[in-house]
Amino acid sequence: MLEYGPMDIKNVTVVGVGQMGNGIAHVFAQSGLETTLVDVNAGRLEAAFATITKNMERQVKKGGLSEEEKKAALSRLEMDTDLEAAAKDADLIIEAVPEILDLKKKIFETADGVCGTGTIFASNTSSLPITQLAASTKRPGKVIGMHFMNPVPVMKLVEIIRGVDTTDDTYASIHTLTETLGKTPACSEDFPGFIANRILMPMINEACFALMEGVAKKEDIDTVMKLGMNHPMGPLALADFIGLDTCLYILEVLHDGLGDPKYRPCPLLRKMVEAGRFGRKTGRGFYDYEKK
Ligand code: NAD
Repeated sequence: MLEYGPMDIKNVTVVGVGQMGNGIAHVFAQSGLETTLVDVNAGRLEAAFATITKNMERQVKKGGLSEEEKKAALSRLEMDTDLEAAAKDADLIIEAVPEILDLKKKIFETADGVCGTGTIFASNTSSLPITQLAASTKRPGKVIGMHFMNPVPVMKLVEIIRGVDTTDDTYASIHTLTETLGKTPACSEDFPGFIANRILMPMINEACFALMEGVAKKEDIDTVMKLGMNHPMGPLALADFIGLDTCLYILEVLHDGLGDPKYRPCPLLRKMVEAGRFGRKTGRGFYDYEKK
């Protein structure tokens, strides 16, 4: 494969503008990049634009952004429901569609057909193998993981994941871009859970075991980790925030991918998910969010 050195990224296409995608588009536009938002659902595009506008207005009120900067950033946003049209001039495609391998592969296959050979493809996946996504394209050296944290405009970290074939130039381009966005990159090789979930999920799982075995009440488990370890949230409250279904899914990825019984999901976590208690999003998880 031909290499031309690290590239200067100016035009970005963000595919899938739900919870994560709208935040990703926000930080790109705010950092001076021409940003096209793509979604299959036109309503989602409008909602994303409204969310970005509202969040930038809040930044203006807090003094983090001037009115002129807000206007300039919003003027850099375009919207499209047609991926092929939106992707063809992009220097970078970043996808944040739902966590389904075949869906993400299809997005990259479609973009592969219209993008120039220099275009980098990034995925915001939390758990899917970058190497498998890369293998579905004719540009495996140009495919990389760019894992933003939620909420994107606030959280400083971007985990950058190198697939088996990701080139040094692709990595250098994305590392530089991450810093341009005002974020801090951390690099991971492509192993299940990368760094963040490899370490976070076993801690949450252990908190579930401690609760299940009657070691302590949920409030005491969370208090120990908050006040003793200076974590902003206890692990059980954090699990409710992330979604217990998502936690279980990622633990299964770790368990299947690494094959070590230490990652087996706690039966209590599984039972909560089976009961439909997914955490904040369903009103009930380890804690009750329906109470006044
Ligand atoms: P979401 O469901 O809020 O948004 C997904 C969006 O993709 C929706 O707007 C949907 O209409 C759109 N979409 C679906 N199919 C599409 C297609 N074929 N083409 C274009 N758009 C399409 O999901 P999310 O929570 O933003 O998660 C997106 C990705 O980010 C997932 O891979 C997830 O694992 C990852 N992630 C999520 C979080 C989080 O806290 N939510 C954190 C880090 C990473």
